[in-house]
Amino acid sequence: MKNMFSFSFVFLQNLYIWILKIKFQNNIEVNLFQRERLIEHLESNKNWDVIIIGGGATGLGIALDSVTRGYKTLLLEQIDYAKGTSSRSTKLVHGGVRYLAQGNIDLVREALYERGLMLKNASHLVSNQSFLIPNYNWWDTLKYTVGLKLYDFLAGKLSFGKSIHINKKKTISRLSTIKTDKLKGGVVYHDGQFDDARLAVNIAQTSIENGATLLNYCKVTGLLKNNKGIVNGVIAYDTEKDKSYSLNAKVVINATGVFTDEVLQMDNENAKNIVRPSQGIHLVLDKSFLPGNDAIMIPKTDDGRVLFLVPWHNKVVVGTTDTLLDSHSLEPKPLDKEVDFILKTANRYLNKKVSKEDVLSIFAGLRPLAAPKDDSEKTKEISRSHKIIISDSELLTITGGKWTTYRRMAQDTINKAIAIGKLPNKKCKTKNQSIHGAMESVDRTNHLYIYGSDQKSIEELIKKEPELGNKLHLNSDFTKAEVVWAIRFEMARTVEDVLARRVRMLFLDSRAAIFAAPIVAELLAKELGKDKVWERQEIDNFTKIAKQYVL
Ligand SMILES: Cc1cc2nc3c(=O)[nH]c(=O)nc-3n(C[C@H](O)[C@H](O)[C@H](O)COP(=O)(O)OP(=O)(O)OC[C@H]3O[C@@H](n4cnc5c(N)ncnc54)[C@H](O)[C@@H]3O)c2cc1C
Repeated sequence: MKNMFSFSFVFLQNLYIWILKIKFQNNIEVNLFQRERLIEHLESNKNWDVIIIGGGATGLGIALDSVTRGYKTLLLEQIDYAKGTSSRSTKLVHGGVRYLAQGNIDLVREALYERGLMLKNASHLVSNQSFLIPNYNWWDTLKYTVGLKLYDFLAGKLSFGKSIHINKKKTISRLSTIKTDKLKGGVVYHDGQFDDARLAVNIAQTSIENGATLLNYCKVTGLLKNNKGIVNGVIAYDTEKDKSYSLNAKVVINATGVFTDEVLQMDNENAKNIVRPSQGIHLVLDKSFLPGNDAIMIPKTDDGRVLFLVPWHNKVVVGTTDTLLDSHSLEPKPLDKEVDFILKTANRYLNKKVSKEDVLSIFAGLRPLAAPKDDSEKTKEISRSHKIIISDSELLTITGGKWTTYRRMAQDTINKAIAIGKLPNKKCKTKNQSIHGAMESVDRTNHLYIYGSDQKSIEELIKKEPELGNKLHLNSDFTKAEVVWAIRFEMARTVEDVLARRVRMLFLDSRAAIFAAPIVAELLAKELGKDKVWERQEIDNFTKIAKQYVL
């Protein structure tokens, strides 16, 4: 009987997706991503198989895994997709050379495998990036050449390219801004590079296209329990509509990153903190500081970490740090000592001097690390692998991990829900699941490549309304058409959603983003039917946040 029900549900779900696809192909106006449609789904469905709290990489991955297995899936995000840590990464899809040095072979092998799948499934957003480790003594040359051969070996068939040693002359020709004094040569290796927040939005779209309901600006404020104390749902608060909902689910999954303990304490007010935030900051510089195609990896900074200088959207991202904090926030603030550390380390390796005035944007993110057992435990030594915790109330919590392993983390979480009898057994299907926008060959000459298969539609928008081809700022490629696209099809609701996580301008050039805010606010007000007071408020809200991204 149970199987019959589950079969009928999957059948109806597939029928629904099929009808929507036909409507799409026939150009009948169906916008799957419209908030009103998603809210309607929420209001007409009170019983779900899986409810996920948190719309970062972890929660979104779980939503996609869950819905593609055929479970009725709901994801709730309190602000916007990737508003938390998932938009603030170093933008690497990597196995983690550092974890290799720490001897964590299993973690590296798993991440290298996932790296390969990400490149295949989200080819428009993930690219193969060459990295150069400059060597200033022969021992380092030998150590990194051998170490990176092992890295290649662990990647197996999904290798991104062979690591090689190159001499001093070649190193200088590839890295024109590297300090040459005492330079011996370099080691080249390959890893992945991506746009984190855009991948988050595209995973959200893929989940919706497969039948899941996802909502941003919908905060979980409480958990529902049955008379045995088992969690069987959530109370969700739609912050736009100022309305609360009670929603039931077979399993509730807490995927809230550094907010994990808040949800655990909704379940049990005496629950101990299991997460301790560790802050990492990044500085964004003009491309002239690293003009070539290679990224730089500095394998050992003064505090024993690694520092990356990575080309990203025609700028350079430099980071990161690892600073244990006592509290978390949605907009973590970079510390002066972190800024000084990055500038000092970069200046030790670059012959073009970087100073505070050169910083186009600065952003901080928080790693949800397992709380250290005592103060002697250093953050860089705490395991970065993910953990799934089952509370007495059968609430599932997933913490840790990294962007690169989001798919595997999701697979493990849903498998765990099956293993404890919360869901009927169904196989994971995400290994070959294309992410919204993925296409076979990507021409990266036009900045719109990042939209993958949606690029054409944005160009169509500009053809129909040439005014939308206007740039948001003289120094930036981003156009008004991308803003309109983000509002209509990418679930952007605020100026910050657009400029921080759809077109990434806030992360690339914070002053330019502040300049562009009124243009974006006007387009938003027009598309969403809001008045001038709302528009003004949006500009003020954004400017306040954006000022933190100016150094
Ligand atoms: C500085 C830094 C650099 C990094 N670089 C890399 C890298 O280069 N490559 C890599 O693979 N990994 C990297 N990582 C790791 C990676 O970014 C994280 O592992 C990942 O983004 C964590 O995602 P998450 O979904 O667990 O958390 P988050 O992205 O923080 O998502 C949690 C979400 O839950 C929401 N939420 C919280 N409470 C509620 C509630 N009550 N109701 C609804 N929603 C709620 C929040 O708003 C948030 O959006 C880096 C991390 C940091 C900090």
